[in-house]
Amino acid sequence: MSKYWSNIVKEIKPYVPGEQPHNKKFIKLNTNENPYPPSINVISAIKNAANESLRLYPDPTCNELKEIVAQYYGLKKEHIFVGNGSDELLAFSFLAFFNPGDTIIFPDITYTFYEVYASLFRINYMTIPVDDNFNIPIEKFYGNNDGIIIANPNAPTGIAVHIDSIRNILEKNISKVVIIDEAYIDFGGESSVELLKEYPNILILHTLSKSRSLAGLRIGLALGNGDLIEGLNRVKNSINSYTVDRIALIGAEEAFKDKVYFEEVRAKIIFTRKAISKKLKELGFMVVDSKANFIFISHPKVHALQLFKKLKEYGVLVRHFNRPRIDNYLRVSIGTDEEMEYFYGVLKDLLRPSPNPAR
Ligand SMILES: *Cc1c(COP(=O)(O)O)cnc(C)c1O
Repeated sequence: MSKYWSNIVKEIKPYVPGEQPHNKKFIKLNTNENPYPPSINVISAIKNAANESLRLYPDPTCNELKEIVAQYYGLKKEHIFVGNGSDELLAFSFLAFFNPGDTIIFPDITYTFYEVYASLFRINYMTIPVDDNFNIPIEKFYGNNDGIIIANPNAPTGIAVHIDSIRNILEKNISKVVIIDEAYIDFGGESSVELLKEYPNILILHTLSKSRSLAGLRIGLALGNGDLIEGLNRVKNSINSYTVDRIALIGAEEAFKDKVYFEEVRAKIIFTRKAISKKLKELGFMVVDSKANFIFISHPKVHALQLFKKLKEYGVLVRHFNRPRIDNYLRVSIGTDEEMEYFYGVLKDLLRPSPNPAR
């Protein structure tokens, strides 16, 4: 605590990002990064972009990337906003669409950044408890709020919400902004992009960090009707007009152009997720039905924290959240088949019934 801090900074409890180890080499299954590299086209385009043009500011409108993304989703450029990672889009959205003193709602178990932004911007929030199976009670999101945010699929559970449920939430909150954070949508969930044409109040957030293997590049997209996008532009141009750099723009463009590689990578991850889920169930694990690039698991006999420590000892990093209701669960990102094989081996050894003591 410093006397120089503003009251907001004194009070805020910042988000705690997953560990990025510096020295020891870990199998990293803790921050939902993609285990596969980005498209080689992305890497070569970025190398080519490292030239004298870096003396110039990037295009603040991200026009080229918007055109490619618009075509990809069958939208217009006016429906797209580009940000420096979707975390930035969340921050801008909270500023653009919610007032200090408003009360927004989101599930009690979800991405913990939502409560951090709410606190930072003095927006009140109410959490809606998910049920015992971590399903989101959709009707509790009908009215009685100043805004809604739902991650679909949800994090850290991986559970996806049906598009009809999103539609109902939009219908029942037509005068409020409903943010659908689709960070993990490419791994099997049903995107709400098609609802953009029918509903003026939906804002969809996408990121290139997960399904396009570009967490290091920092690109996020907001999709929504022109009014909402204009609101985001007003915020951006009041903070930093050049949030997305030249290199990132070029990399993102190539990522969207290489559809074949994208399809290959996401299919691989879905396949591996199914395979490891099945094997973990055979070991007695409770595995939540995930549509994301991670699984959320719990074992009836060994506490999650104990599993966490054992895995770390053996060089595997996973994520444990010390929060009510989920402190006996681990969130495990889907790695390569080899990485998951090793992870499984550590758990299997740990859970092996101890042999009878020698007589
Ligand atoms: C990873 C993640 C983000 C942030 O993605 P970036 O684009 O890397 O900032 C946003 N929302 C959820 C639910 C995430 O898991």
